[in-house]
Amino acid sequence: MSGKLLFSICKLKYFVFPKRCPFCDAVIGNDDFACSDCKSDLPEKGYVTYTSSGVRCVSPFLYDGVYAKAVRLLKFHNRKYYTDTLAHFIAKEVKRQYGNIQFDIITSVPRYKGENRKSQNCSKRLAIAVARILNIRYEETLIKDKQNQKQHNLPKTMRKTNVQGVYKLKDEALVKGKKVLICDDIITTGFTLGECCIVLKSAKPTLLFSCSLCTAQKFRKA
Ligand SMILES: [Zn+2]
Repeated sequence: MSGKLLFSICKLKYFVFPKRCPFCDAVIGNDDFACSDCKSDLPEKGYVTYTSSGVRCVSPFLYDGVYAKAVRLLKFHNRKYYTDTLAHFIAKEVKRQYGNIQFDIITSVPRYKGENRKSQNCSKRLAIAVARILNIRYEETLIKDKQNQKQHNLPKTMRKTNVQGVYKLKDEALVKGKKVLICDDIITTGFTLGECCIVLKSAKPTLLFSCSLCTAQKFRKA
């Protein structure tokens, strides 16, 4: 396909499906990631929190207001077209916080095969987009082979045991000796990411960090 034709198709796609601000759904320019109003309200810095297993996690947004709404629309209301725009903010924060690290792979928190399809793969879609933006390979390293209860439906005291033993390594070789970044959509108590990190660590990566779009842990700021 000629470059000119490809350019015309891209332009047509933009005309039919214009890019939209993930925080208010206003139409935005093809090179923008938010409208000018929302852009002026974006937090200057992201947030650093920790998973339950002590792995550092960076997130561009708090799980609050328009950012919580954006992640809910992405996750439960089929606004898949927000994925690349929102992944841009994760990638920016990863660069800011882990800029000197050359990760070998980006991976994601897996979903159970039979889980609600609407909410399926949100972390995976974000992780793939972040990997593409940062030019890092995406690998599926974990499998969730047991169905457990939704973490957000459970009291805090039960969230730790609810995720224990539900994740398994897909293939140790994908992780062993690698610098690994794991991506999720939201970090709340940190037990889900924490459990995934415990499993990943068993395969002996040389480095393991995590990132998410939003954090519900308000008490730490980068
Ligand atoms: Zn906006």
